[in-house]
Amino acid sequence: MSQTLMEKVAALCKRRGFIYAGSEIYGGVANTYDYGPMGAELLRNIRNLWWNNFVHGRDDVVGLDASLISSHKIWDASGHTAGFSDAMVDCKNCKGRYRADHVIEDHFAKKGTEQNVEGLTPEEFKKIMVDEKIKCAKCGKIDWTDVRKFNLLFPVHLGIVEGDQSLAYLRGETAQGIFVNFKNVVDSTRVKLPFGIAQLGKSFRNEITLGNSIFRTIEFEQGEIEYFFDPDKTNWEEIFNGFKDSMWDFAVNKLGVNADNLRWRVHSDDERSFYSKRTEDLEYNYPFGGFKELWGLAYRTDYDLNQHIKHSGKDLSILDTQTNKKVVPHVIEPAVGINRLMLMTLCDAYTEEGERSFLKLKPSLAPYRAAVFPLLANKPELVEKAREIYKTLQKDFRVAWDDRGNIGKRYASQDEIGTPYCITIDFDTLEKDQKVTIRFRDSAAQERIAIDQIKDYLIQNT
Ligand code: ATP
Repeated sequence: MSQTLMEKVAALCKRRGFIYAGSEIYGGVANTYDYGPMGAELLRNIRNLWWNNFVHGRDDVVGLDASLISSHKIWDASGHTAGFSDAMVDCKNCKGRYRADHVIEDHFAKKGTEQNVEGLTPEEFKKIMVDEKIKCAKCGKIDWTDVRKFNLLFPVHLGIVEGDQSLAYLRGETAQGIFVNFKNVVDSTRVKLPFGIAQLGKSFRNEITLGNSIFRTIEFEQGEIEYFFDPDKTNWEEIFNGFKDSMWDFAVNKLGVNADNLRWRVHSDDERSFYSKRTEDLEYNYPFGGFKELWGLAYRTDYDLNQHIKHSGKDLSILDTQTNKKVVPHVIEPAVGINRLMLMTLCDAYTEEGERSFLKLKPSLAPYRAAVFPLLANKPELVEKAREIYKTLQKDFRVAWDDRGNIGKRYASQDEIGTPYCITIDFDTLEKDQKVTIRFRDSAAQERIAIDQIKDYLIQNT
């Protein structure tokens, strides 16, 4: 049977050291993954690109790095302890556990229709499942438990006494760390409205949906910005549309994905949180199940800061020195999963041409910018020269060294991890021209360039 695109990408990721199943030798832990040597580099490149683009590249955004473990009071105030839950249903026959909204959405998608399940009660979910006679996807039986809500936050008990005093949570999103530090940032830096606070780091959610690689995991990295402004002075639509443009630009021009695989989807009134004035998702056409949320953009008004003002009793307003007026700013929030960006980048880059499969990653993203080979591993003079070039390039780029097998095999393995350039040192290099052969991943075309031109070549062709 021919493999689907997702199966091919997943197999390549395992084979070439991008993504491994979490705790694999002990049977695994569902929805956890570990990143291998290539995956760690790609993830780091995407993370750095996000930070460079949205923090260092802007005059109006500052960074923050808040604790992963935080007081339960933060999550009470934000509404997460009461409302951050999914509806879950079990198949009594095969013990499969599912999110009720996914079971219903998949059922209607198969029928070629759509069903909006946002905001339904557990009883309403169950009624649809019964009325539609929905079968378990795993065993085909109709034998469902009642639908129950379960909270996605991971509780942590600090110290040795359990109870309210010791209860904390692993953060379910990075955004709350920004809201609770809003006043600290205002008081300790020279920011002035409008401005953003960005955070990049891990979040944790007790997700039960299985499969689809790193799309939905219980531990993942988020890149979020809370952009604060005074709605009386700044037009929110301008900020909102500005972020739409930069999110699109990031996906298409910085990560290099095909624009045809991206689209915007506006949240309906039912779907949108009650405090949000507008929410749109940037969706990517993942090879499993089509367009799915990549990046959310929401105008959250002053809801979050007001909740923390109410619960903490602290004044989180900011003084407008021009008007001497105190303002509780409104926020617009772009929120993305770095791992979802990585999965999109991998799926989009996977290319097959004849016998060849390779990752058409942007050179700046690839785990290695170049690989260096001595033509023959058993000729010390070639190895010595190649080693010298490798060491010189290593000062400026991540470079791979490979002297195993034949050149064809070396090319194939570098292609599969997306290395854009392979540099071979041969006898002509030593005896004739002080030039190397540089081969480009996408076209497999080769040219000879002088050793002292390699660095410029790699910079110019990135
Ligand atoms: P979804 O509807 O897919 O569960 P969400 O609407 O709950 O996502 P947000 O709370 O808006 O997601 O989080 C912002 C971003 O964080 C999402 O757009 C997504 O890229 C990422 N994200 C959310 N949950 C996960 C997860 N479990 N694993 C990986 N990335 C996630």
